[in-house]
Amino acid sequence: MPSTAPVPLSSSRPALPRDPSRDAPARRRRRPRDVALVVSALVVLVATLVVAAWAGLTFGGTASTGLGTGRDAAADTVGSASGAGPALDPGATGEAGGLVPDGTTAFDVDLPALAGLDPRLLDALQRAATDASSDGVDVVVNSGWRSAAHQEQLLRDAVAQYGSAREAARWVATPATSAHVGGDAVDIGSWDATAWFSGHGAAYDLCQIYENETWHYELRDGAARDGCPPMYRDPTEDPRMRA
Ligand SMILES: [Zn+2]
Repeated sequence: MPSTAPVPLSSSRPALPRDPSRDAPARRRRRPRDVALVVSALVVLVATLVVAAWAGLTFGGTASTGLGTGRDAAADTVGSASGAGPALDPGATGEAGGLVPDGTTAFDVDLPALAGLDPRLLDALQRAATDASSDGVDVVVNSGWRSAAHQEQLLRDAVAQYGSAREAARWVATPATSAHVGGDAVDIGSWDATAWFSGHGAAYDLCQIYENETWHYELRDGAARDGCPPMYRDPTEDPRMRA
């Protein structure tokens, strides 16, 4: 009974940072043991590294499934990643953040930009691209899934380019509102491809959403039957952009 009261106080003591200058003299007096300590510390370090490398490989394979579960609330991600394929990191930039090399196609699923798309959107895109190809039209993918960090960079660039946040908002969404960050939009090229999609996209439930973005397509269920919904003039008219 008397021993219970001091326990919380004394148990927190060892957690305090140790004073290195106090430890030093004690170590110097025990030379032979120091060697043994260093050797065992090295063994522990190597073992830790091996375990960390193994864990890194394991987590690398599962990280993509974590994205859709709201690891980054600001990214507003929908369950887009299918689990296999490259990891999707909301903080990544460059190719890992969704940047695509020139000439990327709908089938370059090793790229996060494609791997991060809603699997249904990816499937529709691939079917459309295959049929477009039969019509002699090559579809390139200029953008698909984007990390929140990549989207933020695009927004900063747009504000610089258009001179104001208000004008930039007509073209680039925030990380919280962008359908790209959610894996729900794809930007296609070239001009031939956008023309082909304008005429045939709806048959695959693929719809142009904004009048000013002839390249931006999203999945709209029922479009193959009922046609695509009316377009917004630009993203500022889209209620989703007012998050
Ligand atoms: Zn777009």
